[in-house]
Amino acid sequence: MHPGTFGSYQQYPAQYDSYHSQQHYALPPALYYSIDVECVATGLDHNARAVAQISLVDQYERVSLNLYVKPDRPVVSYLTPLTGLSQELVESQGMSLADAVATLRQYLPASAILVGQNVGKDVEWLKLKEGADFKALVDLSGVYRVWNPRFKTWSVFSQDHLARVLLNWGPDAAGHDAVLDAVKSVRLFNLYSQLQASPEAWQSAQEALLAAEPTESFAKRNPTFEGVCMGNRKTCRCGAPFLG
Ligand SMILES: [Zn+2]
Repeated sequence: MHPGTFGSYQQYPAQYDSYHSQQHYALPPALYYSIDVECVATGLDHNARAVAQISLVDQYERVSLNLYVKPDRPVVSYLTPLTGLSQELVESQGMSLADAVATLRQYLPASAILVGQNVGKDVEWLKLKEGADFKALVDLSGVYRVWNPRFKTWSVFSQDHLARVLLNWGPDAAGHDAVLDAVKSVRLFNLYSQLQASPEAWQSAQEALLAAEPTESFAKRNPTFEGVCMGNRKTCRCGAPFLG
C-alpha cells in the first residue's frame, strides 16, 4: 500500500500508556476526550441491550476511567467475542449505572469535546447532555466519510476498518473493549487533525480506505449470537425496529 504515508502513527505500539509514562513536562489540559460504551444483551432482539462498561480516555490517550456496570435486568448474553465482557467480570466489578454515570460526570469537564465512532449513541446510552455535561461531539464516521467516485456515493467506514487501514491496528485478541475502542477513537481523531495539514496525505488516506478490503463486522459474520439478534438489517429475523 502506501508505506509511511501516515507518518509515525503506525509505529506507535498498540498500548494506551505508550508515551505518558516518562513524561517530564506538563501537557496543556485536555480538550478532546473519547467515551466508549460496551453493552450486553438483556433479551433476544437487537434492541435489548444494557450498558456494562464505560471508558473515558483523553486526547493524550490517558485512561481517565474504566468502569464496569452491572445491569439491573438479567443478562441473556455477554456477547463476549464482541464486548470482551464476561459474567465473572461484570458481576465482580460492576456498579449500578447511576453510580457509574455520576462518577463519569465528575471526571468529564463540561468543556470537553467528545470524539468517537457514532459517539452520539454512547452519549445517548449515558443520557449525557450537550452544553451541560460536555460541549460538543465529533463523530469519526462523519469526518472520515469518503466520496466514492465509482459509485457516486459517500462511503462510511467502521472504526475497525479505519483503525486497520490507517493505524495498522490488527484484530484485538479479546474482541472489543471500551478502553481500547476509546484509544482507537482518540488516535484516529489525532490522525485526522494531522492529515488535514497535508492535502496529499489526506488524499492517500482516503484512497487507502476505499481500496482496502472491507472489514466485516461482527453482526455480518454472526446474524445471531447465543440466540441474540445482532441487528444486521439484511439478516434480522427478530422483527424489532431499527432505531437508527
Ligand atoms: Zn433483529
